[in-house]
Amino acid sequence: MTGPAVLLQMALRVEQDIFVVRQRGREVAAAVGLEHQDQVRIATALSEVARDLLHSSNGADVTFAVAAGPAGRPALQVDLTPVRPLEDGRYQPQSGAVARLVDMLGVVQEEGDTVVRMSRRVPANAQALTPERLAELREELGRSAPGSALDELASQNGQLIAALDEVRSQRDELAVLNEELQETNRGVMALYNQLTEELEETNRGVVALYAELDEKSAQLRAASESKSRFLANVSHELRAPVTAIIGLGRLLADSASDPLTAEQARQVGLIRSSASDLLGLVNELLDLAKAESGRIEPNWAEVDLRALYGQLRGTLRALATRPQVELVVEEPPTPALVRSDEVLLAQVLRNLLHNGLKFTEQGEVRLSAERVGDRWSLSVSDTGVGIPPELHERVFEEFYQVPGTTRVGGTGLGLPYARRLVTILGGTLELSSEPGRGSTFTISLPVGGA
Ligand code: ADP
Repeated sequence: MTGPAVLLQMALRVEQDIFVVRQRGREVAAAVGLEHQDQVRIATALSEVARDLLHSSNGADVTFAVAAGPAGRPALQVDLTPVRPLEDGRYQPQSGAVARLVDMLGVVQEEGDTVVRMSRRVPANAQALTPERLAELREELGRSAPGSALDELASQNGQLIAALDEVRSQRDELAVLNEELQETNRGVMALYNQLTEELEETNRGVVALYAELDEKSAQLRAASESKSRFLANVSHELRAPVTAIIGLGRLLADSASDPLTAEQARQVGLIRSSASDLLGLVNELLDLAKAESGRIEPNWAEVDLRALYGQLRGTLRALATRPQVELVVEEPPTPALVRSDEVLLAQVLRNLLHNGLKFTEQGEVRLSAERVGDRWSLSVSDTGVGIPPELHERVFEEFYQVPGTTRVGGTGLGLPYARRLVTILGGTLELSSEPGRGSTFTISLPVGGA
């Protein structure tokens, strides 16, 4: 479409013409395919503007045309050219709502004239406005004579009633919607209250559970403290009499004392060795009680594993009494430094090596060291009897000894004590073993200490 295609022109000069302009506006709007609502809108806007111009400019010439609107869609365009030019070239509708009735309402300059223009898009589903169709419309509109003011008033009334009806039905719809909304709100509130209640109920349960848990762990702590205190007291009290028995035994067996019969000497020997075993047990109990009560404070220092291993190699050689068992102490890789307590660490390693030698009939017991990231991994492995997998954790319990191994002696306190010490040093002590193939105890220690 090039320029606007004019469909109808008319003059607005007297009050009566306002009705005619309104009526014709609606007719043209219907003819080009505007929907009923839009026909009423543009007709209403037109009669408002016509009234304004009649009073301010002595009327206007009105042109109805089809022009290209936004996005190339056709639009109905109505131009009102005032008879007397608009004051300072501007037009402001009396009612602000008028502009909202159409897509565009404003003043444009058209061939030197100041024109008030309004337009409204033709919907996409309307019949196509081809040049032929436009010619047809022009002819139809030219033929139809404008009705009287009364006719227009009657039709305007009809439109008003229809609009009122619509407003009422919309209000009813709104009331129904409101009702539904309130209903939904009540439902949501009920659900929310129920959820809140359930949550509070659950919370109360959790709180009670925690209180119970706290109480239980306090009881457990108290029980463990009593046990440590008992062990410490009993072993402490036992140490003096046992030491006395050993001393007395030594005195009896002394060559400076009265000579004993062979039988007496044998019995005194038994008393002395039993008392020595007992002293060993008492000492181990005391150590464990001390470790468990948290009274062992490590003496942190930079420990040279090479020196420590060398020392163990020397002192333990004497223990390796079986010729079929070799004690191998590997050289740790340099720099072999770890922040730890040398005395405690030596105690643990000695304990593990001692066990290895005790439970190995032939083969070897090996002490090695490996640096893994920022940790040291110290292993004591042997080719001895091994430990069944289901007992791997039990051997770390106090007094537990694998059935059938008791004849080699011991108290069942060495491993729990060793694990306790390693924990105090910030590390872990783990076991991997298979019956008949040997065992490996691995201490993992952070290089920088606990
Ligand atoms: P003890 O050696 O004084 O009996 P431990 O706590 O050191 O006590 O060890 C507990 C038990 O674990 C031992 O009695 C033994 O049955 C088993 N055990 C420990 N070390 C080894 C090992 N290297 N090989 C096989 N069994 C072992």
